[in-house]
Amino acid sequence: MELYHNQVTRAQGAFSVRMFHRSWGILMIQENLSAPSTLLDFPTRERFARELARHHYDIIGISSIVVNIGKVREMCRMARTLSPESTIVVGGHVAAIPGIERMIDADQIVRGDGIAWMRAFLGEDVNAPIRHPHIVSAFDIRTMGIKVPASAGDTAATIIPSVGCPLGCNFCTTSAFFGGKGKFLNFYSTGDELFRVMCEAEKSLNVRSFFLMDENFLLHRQRALDLLARMKAAGKPWALYVFSSANAIRMYTMRELVELGVSWIWMGLESAHSAYSKLQGHDTVALSRELHEHGIKLLGSTIVGLEHHTPQNLPEEIEHAVSHEADFHQFMLYTPVPGTPLYREMEVRGRLLDVDLADIHGQHRFNFEHAAISRDDSKRFLDWAFRRDFQRNGPSLYRICRTTLQGWKRYRSDPDPRIRQRFEWEIRSLKTGYGGLLWAMERQLRQTNESMSRQIREFRKELRGEFGVLSRVVGSLLGPVVLWASLREQKRLAEGRTYEPRTFVERRNWADA
Ligand code: SF4
Repeated sequence: MELYHNQVTRAQGAFSVRMFHRSWGILMIQENLSAPSTLLDFPTRERFARELARHHYDIIGISSIVVNIGKVREMCRMARTLSPESTIVVGGHVAAIPGIERMIDADQIVRGDGIAWMRAFLGEDVNAPIRHPHIVSAFDIRTMGIKVPASAGDTAATIIPSVGCPLGCNFCTTSAFFGGKGKFLNFYSTGDELFRVMCEAEKSLNVRSFFLMDENFLLHRQRALDLLARMKAAGKPWALYVFSSANAIRMYTMRELVELGVSWIWMGLESAHSAYSKLQGHDTVALSRELHEHGIKLLGSTIVGLEHHTPQNLPEEIEHAVSHEADFHQFMLYTPVPGTPLYREMEVRGRLLDVDLADIHGQHRFNFEHAAISRDDSKRFLDWAFRRDFQRNGPSLYRICRTTLQGWKRYRSDPDPRIRQRFEWEIRSLKTGYGGLLWAMERQLRQTNESMSRQIREFRKELRGEFGVLSRVVGSLLGPVVLWASLREQKRLAEGRTYEPRTFVERRNWADA
């Protein structure tokens, strides 16, 4: 799936950060079965049909998010026709749709942990240790019309330490899917286990950064500190990209976060006036500033259309969100997604609207009756929030460069060699390739956002001051090429160009099949 462009950088035009992510859930399931299996990730209709025609499968598992219910229905229909003897199993977030049993032709619907369910279904050991697949966090990365070369070790490895989040915010699909408030499932409950899994990925993928796909990684403090102790003992200068709530981040000193290698945090900002306990008593604007001062990049996530929002107070709330100057900012409509407590509440109150399931994703219009904001206005406010963030804070690529430089300046002479090495690694592209991107960005924005263009020019001067002639030469050699590619991309996007992930086929234990 393409996460960033869909819900984070979508208003940034050619500057949007584009990349795809694999379907990690089914990769985890496949890795933990001893039965022969084939995994098709992002199959086309034709590829799916060909696979079923060529091989017989006892079980056909289909995993999906809610919006793809139509595709699941069609895949079930195809599976019944092409492989009538097979048992069809459907899982993933789509399984949370009430009454899904009547919408699709499947034999089994699986909610929650698919590894345990599938092991039990196949008669395998449900309690066997979880093996982690070696997964690169993203592929086909592109920005400004240029495909970023996938040099070994540059992309992070994805590690999934736990699923679910015990904080149980009412709208949260992942928390609800794995049990809701008070519940979560640890695949690796100790820092030692996690360290071992990370070392394996480091060796196999040649990485030094990790995207920890845990809904609230820092909330598990003891595990994080144990991991830190192991990293220190082994001298690992790793960089970690994590999801964490404000209350969890505040359980650590900035020094602890930096030592742990936390380089990027996805944090729910929701709204300054929301009642979520994770935000109570926390000044998130100050927290954002502090994280930046320590070189930690922030992806802030704000909700548009909470119950207290009105057309009068929403502009001010969006302005407040934008004032965080987060490196990335996701805006999402308040959305009752099937399976969540919010959905049940709206259903009981009769406030759900008859909206196609394919449109329930928080990036279009409300799917419920809001007391003060119409469906059309929900879209207008959402689109405006993205545009306003882009106008005031500029391209996210520029923002991450700024935060990275801030961190490097602060820690380049740190007495801890692990910390110095990490910041040296993070700054490496700023000394060279990013110079070209920034050169092009400054020129391209001259026409549309003069003040941002000036800010980028000042920043480039700062970079030249730090990195001298190399940065200047690379910037001016590469810059014109990037500018040309970026303008071409802008034109293509205006003409409706979209990107689709390629199909992956992975067979496991197949020699015995
Ligand atoms: S803190 Fe984040 S991950 Fe946890 S329940 Fe709330 S929204 Fe979900």
